[in-house]
Parts: sequence; C-alpha cells; structure tokens
Amino acid sequence: MSECIFCKIVRREIPADIVYEDEISLAFRDINPQAPTHILVIPKEHIPSLVDADPVKHEALLGHLLLVARRVADLEGITDSGFRIVINNGKDAGQAVDHLHVHVLGGREMGWPPG
Ligand code: 5GP
Ligand code: ZN
Repeated sequence: MSECIFCKIVRREIPADIVYEDEISLAFRDINPQAPTHILVIPKEHIPSLVDADPVKHEALLGHLLLVARRVADLEGITDSGFRIVINNGKDAGQAVDHLHVHVLGGREMGWPPG
C-alpha cells in the first residue's frame, strides 16, 4: 500500500476537508492555506508529478483536473473575482508532495511574478 499522503487521503486513511469528488479525482482544502480559498485537486491515481503523466494515457485525465479546478472555483464563489491555478513540478518549483496536484487559489489579489 502506498505511503503517499495524498493516496492516504484518497483511501480515507487520513482526514481531509473534501469539497468535491468523482470517480477519477478528489478536491480538498490545503492544510496550510496561502489564500482564503486554497484547494488541491488530485487524480485518484498516483502520478508523482506532471512530468510523469503519460502523453497518451493521461491526456483526458489532465483535462479533467483543470475542469474540476474550474468547478471548484465556482463552488467557492471565486469565479468572478478571479483565481489562480498552480502546478508545482520538481525541486526548483518547491514541489513538496510527490502526487500530482493542482492548486486552486483565490479570495484575494495576487502578485505577479510568483515567488
Ligand atoms: P506543493 O508544494 O507540493 O505544490 O504543495 C503541497 C501542498 O500540500 C502544500 O500546500 C501543503 O500545505 C499541502 N499538504 C501537505 N500535506 C497535507 C495534508 O496532509 N493534508 C492537506 N490537506 N494538505 C497537505
Ligand atoms: Zn499518491
């Protein structure tokens, strides 16, 4: 059984504040939010990072994650004010959890470029 913390959240072995679920994805609140809304959208399948996604097998899955992110923004009421989608990939980007996840951030104005 995988030791990955996000796989454990998928299996309900550790708690999370889940805001959306379907057969291939799960969305839950980040434990250390960086904005009033900070939700992580993940595939239920363990894919370590974006670069590990298969260009053929995972094409529809990656599109699905983005559409779920958009849906989550709607559920949170931040579609009109705007929101940011982030996928950290690898060391320099600060990826800390090796299970592909899409950050959905909103509820405040954000700076650019990101740090
Ligand atoms: P990364 O830096 O890998 O892109 O983002 C990982 C995110 O996962 C961080 O924002 C961190 O706060 C969040 N996180 C880490 N462990 C947990 C956890 O056990 N539960 C939840 N809900 N979020 C977590
Ligand atoms: Zn995992």
